[in-house]
Amino acid sequence: MGGRIDNSANDGRRPYVFRLHGQNMHLIGDLLPKADETPRFSQLYIYDTDNEVVNRMRNARAQDRPDLLSRVFKIKLKALMKDITKEFLFEHKLTNEALIDSVVCAEIPDQDSNPRLYEEVKTFMIHGHCGLDRKNSPCMVKSRCSTHFPKKFTDMTSFDEDGYCKYRRRDSGHFIEKSGIKLDNRFVVPYNPTLLLRYQTHINVEFCNQSRSIKYLFKYVSKGHDKVTAALCNPDSAESSEENCDEIKTYLDCRYISPCEAVWRIF
Ligand SMILES: [Zn+2]
Repeated sequence: MGGRIDNSANDGRRPYVFRLHGQNMHLIGDLLPKADETPRFSQLYIYDTDNEVVNRMRNARAQDRPDLLSRVFKIKLKALMKDITKEFLFEHKLTNEALIDSVVCAEIPDQDSNPRLYEEVKTFMIHGHCGLDRKNSPCMVKSRCSTHFPKKFTDMTSFDEDGYCKYRRRDSGHFIEKSGIKLDNRFVVPYNPTLLLRYQTHINVEFCNQSRSIKYLFKYVSKGHDKVTAALCNPDSAESSEENCDEIKTYLDCRYISPCEAVWRIF
């Protein structure tokens, strides 16, 4: 450790003094906050008991911890792949509507008989609200929901003329209220109850029977991340005029790596 260290502070009664941000920090005050103060971030590196980890997480939002997000995502991804490829899930080929119903659900469960699943559907699998109730919802394109919600009520799972599966959405009277708006079975994103209870996150499960889904998958695998082409120039200078523009010089292939993606590559 560089710098001058005052070892008189390390007398065994307190945690050792650390170098923070290139400086030796000594006796910065009480380690414990005053009764009405919330513990602060840098203290917690020093005083890292289970309790303080909880405090640290209380002060951090999900987007502050891309390291934890990426690790949890990786754990869930590994477990999900194991569930799908080695464990009990999706053992049968979905050859008829009844088998589809046994795997894919697009209905709100009964709150009294299935409270846990009800809560998960409420938190993760309800689309909206959008449409006239919320015209600025991200799904709205040209004043319509781009993902075609609300769907129609239907008593039985069936296929439309293009071969798309229309999942069972009975008019059961079940609804979930969000911001004062009642959202019923027409607003449920199709899910698998076992996966939803197990992973407690948004997992859309759909029946795929068309060769077009291969194109969809490959598009996602190969399209890469978002990019932007940017050029910085002075609008008043001659350089910026079209005739004098050095295209190679002004062309920048900019790339943005999100914190989660960066951490994902590191670990
Ligand atoms: Zn929508």
